[in-house]
Amino acid sequence: MVEKYHYIIYNSYMIYTIRKYGDPILRKKTEAVTEFDGDLKQVFADMLETMYAYHGTGLAANQIGILKNMLVLDASTEDKTILYALANAQVVEHSKEKTEFEEGCLSFPGINEKISRPSAIKVKAQDLDGKELMIEATGFLAIVLQHEIDHLNGVVFIDRMTPIRKMLHAKELKELKNICKKALK
Ligand SMILES: [Zn+2]
Repeated sequence: MVEKYHYIIYNSYMIYTIRKYGDPILRKKTEAVTEFDGDLKQVFADMLETMYAYHGTGLAANQIGILKNMLVLDASTEDKTILYALANAQVVEHSKEKTEFEEGCLSFPGINEKISRPSAIKVKAQDLDGKELMIEATGFLAIVLQHEIDHLNGVVFIDRMTPIRKMLHAKELKELKNICKKALK
């Protein structure tokens, strides 16, 4: 777990623009992090601040245009801080049992839909200093981790929707794509 001081020590942040559906970077697989230096910590700090600025629960680096395997998430509850900044995260085990949860995504503003995912997972990752971690997650944390790790592999939550549910959002998705096309011009 990341202690809050890891990012509080940085007093200047950059709030990035969130890349939206239609931006090709969301479909790209990110590259492994190999250097665990000050620059990496600064990017993690910026990612956390960007996530909070947009009231998100999690953020993957390609959502802000950085093609590196980095994610941040804050799944804290009233009595427990659950804050992670992870590099090179991958799901190494998952339960057969699945859970359905209504997800949203900062790259798909206005779209919320129920997604079915394994209810328990094991994630291998590295922390800010490169130390290896094994995270056993269930519940909300498992959902957020899987959503963000999907992003890092170029997979977005509409890919996990059932065809019928995805169809229900066809109009909104088309609109998002058109907005993005104009913005990228
Ligand atoms: Zn997302």
